[in-house]
Amino acid sequence: MGLLIDTFGRVHTDLRISVTDRCNLRCTYCMPAAGVQFKPHEDILAFEEIQRLVRVAARLGVGKVRLTGGEPLVRRGVCRLVEMLAAVPGIHDLAMTTNGVLLAAYARELKQAGLHRVNVSLDTLDREKFSGIARRDELPNVLEGIAAAQRAGFSRIKLNAVAQRGLNEDDVVPLARFARERGFDLRFIEFMPLDGDRCWDAERVLPGEEILRLLADGVGPLEPVVEPDARVPATEYRFADGIGRVGVIASVSRPFCRGCGRLRLTADGRLQNCLFSPDEWETRPLLRTGVSDAQLAELMRRAVRAKRAERGVEGGWLARHERAMYQIGG
Ligand code: SAM
Repeated sequence: MGLLIDTFGRVHTDLRISVTDRCNLRCTYCMPAAGVQFKPHEDILAFEEIQRLVRVAARLGVGKVRLTGGEPLVRRGVCRLVEMLAAVPGIHDLAMTTNGVLLAAYARELKQAGLHRVNVSLDTLDREKFSGIARRDELPNVLEGIAAAQRAGFSRIKLNAVAQRGLNEDDVVPLARFARERGFDLRFIEFMPLDGDRCWDAERVLPGEEILRLLADGVGPLEPVVEPDARVPATEYRFADGIGRVGVIASVSRPFCRGCGRLRLTADGRLQNCLFSPDEWETRPLLRTGVSDAQLAELMRRAVRAKRAERGVEGGWLARHERAMYQIGG
C-alpha cells in the first residue's frame, strides 16, 4: 500500500485520535467556561470505525497511535477501544493523553487492555491555581490518578504542562522537582492560539528558552539529550546529575515542523495534517456508505500529500484555528 510521505519527504507514522470532544475540566487555554456545543453522539466515530481507520493507517506505515480528546477517559467503554487498537497488527506504540481526573479508576484496566504509555496533563501542584486554570477543583484526583498509573505498572509516565507567562512560571521548578523525585518525564508546552475563549496573546507565551533558564537556575544544569529524535516535537534535555528529563514543545517560538510525521483524526472523523491547518478530510460519510479500504488509504495519502511545509498554512505564519484544541485533539 506504500507509506504516507508528504511532498517534503516527511514519513507519517504517528496518528493522534480524539475519541471525544467532551471533557470533565474546562481549562482556560482550551475550552470556554460555559456554552460549549459538543458533537452529538451519532457524529462521533464508533469504535469499529476508529479501528478500521487504524488498520488502514497501520498498513500505510503508522505504528504509533495516541488517544486524546477532549478527555479520552470520559468516553464510555474507552478501555474496549484500547483493546481493539492494541490488537491491530503494526501498532507498536499505543498511548493516551489524559487530564488524569478519572485515571485512578481506569489505570489497571487500561494497562490490561494493552495501553503502553500514558501522558498526564498537569500545569501546577498548587490546588487553588489548578482550580483557577481548570475551573474544577480536581488536583487531588489527578495526583491520585498519576499514582495509580504508576501502581498499575505504567513506566515512562510523562507529565505535560502548558506554560503561561504571568500564570504558572512559578510552577516550572516545583513541577520539575515533583517529576524528578518520582521518575516521570516532564514536558512543557508553549501556549498555542487554540483556546476556546480566544484570549491567546503572544505576551502570555512563556518561550521554551525561558523555561529552560528557569529550570537550570532553580533545579540544576541541563544537557541536551544526544541524538534527539527529530520526529519528537520536544527538545529533550536531561539534568546533568542524571536524574530526570524535561522536554520543551516550542510550537510557537520554535516550530518543529521539519520533523513532523503526524496525522490527526478528530472525534467526528476528520483527518487533519496539522494542528494549525484549516484543511480537513472527512472520513465519516465514507465509512458510513461502504467505502473500500483502498479508498480510505487514498484519502489518508491525499491528506498527507497536502501538508504544508510549516504550521499548516502557506508561509508558515501562526494562524488561529477555527477550532479550539478540544475540538481537534491535542
Ligand atoms: N484531556 C486530555 C488532557 O488534558 O491531557 C487530552 C486532551 S488535551 C486537549 C491535550 C493537551 O493539549 C493537554 O496537555 C493540554 O494541556 C494541551 N493544550 C490544550 N490547549 C492548549 C493550548 N492552547 N496550548 C497548548 N497546549 C494546549
